[in-house]
Amino acid sequence: MGRRKKIVQECEKLMDKPEQIRNIAIAAHVDHGKTTLTDNLLAGAGMIADKGEATQLMMDTEEDEQERGITIDAANVSMTHEYEDRNHLINLIDTPGHVDFGGDVTRAMRAVDGALVVVDAVEGAMPQTETVVRQALREGVKPALFINKVDRLISELQEGPEEMQKRLTDVIGDVNELIRGMTEDMDDVDDWTVSVEDGTVAFGSALYKWGVSLPSMQATGMSFGDIIDLEQADKRQELHEKTPLSDVVLDMVAEHFPNPLDAQPRRIPRVWRGDDDLDIARQMREVDDDGEVVFMATDIGMDPHAGEIATGRVFSGTIKKGQDLYVSGTAGTNRVQSVGIFMGGEREELDRGVPAGNIAAVTGLRDAIAGSTVSSIEMTPFESIEHISEPVITKS
Ligand code: GDP
Repeated sequence: MGRRKKIVQECEKLMDKPEQIRNIAIAAHVDHGKTTLTDNLLAGAGMIADKGEATQLMMDTEEDEQERGITIDAANVSMTHEYEDRNHLINLIDTPGHVDFGGDVTRAMRAVDGALVVVDAVEGAMPQTETVVRQALREGVKPALFINKVDRLISELQEGPEEMQKRLTDVIGDVNELIRGMTEDMDDVDDWTVSVEDGTVAFGSALYKWGVSLPSMQATGMSFGDIIDLEQADKRQELHEKTPLSDVVLDMVAEHFPNPLDAQPRRIPRVWRGDDDLDIARQMREVDDDGEVVFMATDIGMDPHAGEIATGRVFSGTIKKGQDLYVSGTAGTNRVQSVGIFMGGEREELDRGVPAGNIAAVTGLRDAIAGSTVSSIEMTPFESIEHISEPVITKS
């Protein structure tokens, strides 16, 4: 059996086990390393060959994106990761890295429960870092932080352990200041801040494929000093093998991001204003894969063969080929033509459908737009996804 087929089968096995699912987005200011990090995760999960720096970036699926060197359209992928003897299904939604596309980032946040915020260690938190953190928190999505390009602190800026530690602490402090500023008015008492001690902060180099977190340093016995020594001695391959970035980040995802069973009861009241006592409300809170189908489309893409593809989150029920579903704001129903998951920009159709708690790619929903509520019974639609306006920053 081919590797791809095997990964699809593994993903399928995990789809019905919401406690083992993590729906995540990676979001960053442009050039902070989101694409390079994503590539690391895909290679770590065995989705693409780990060929060094020249690896073709799978997430940049459109030629136009590759030419422009920025990610425009959200590309998505499902992968598996073993953590503490348990396999996890990680559904990753890619978000555009350019400020002009802020609206797409917000839409992607509706589909996920955790956001990995990437910040360049040299540049620190930038305007779009603030925007993506705001978008995540507004949607009730839990942030974690990856501080990237730490190799530059060591090799270019020649920083020692203390200077480096201070810089990392400053970045974490800045991000937490943003988080606190945005959550002080929230009525729930969740602590949304990130910290090294909690394991919600990791740092490293996406380019050289190494990363560390407090739990990973405890597990490997590596110290700051060891990392600096290896990086300075140009032993980056050794550093990668000793403490691979993908493992550190995916462990953090599995440990700290909520699974759909934890996330949906908290998130549904934020994004849906329907009657709490209805069966459908309970089914969404409980991630009931036998319940009515409730799917929220967060992105509409075009496939030359299949036509329009709606990507989004299944909050309740199991979305399947042949179902006739209501699309909010339109009359009548649309018949689902196919349902699948994303495997690195390509769709993998699944006849058994995609159950609640997952991200699905659906064709046949011709009336759906990004933001549509698609359901098997008529219902109050989800709150519209707010577009957060921000200053347009042009890339030099
Ligand atoms: P995105 O715009 O956030 O997707 O950023 P990219 O992943 O495209 O990275 C932007 C640039 O930073 C590219 O030239 C990368 O090679 C470089 N880069 C990414 N990660 C690192 C890193 O960890 N260290 C260094 N030195 N460069 C990096």
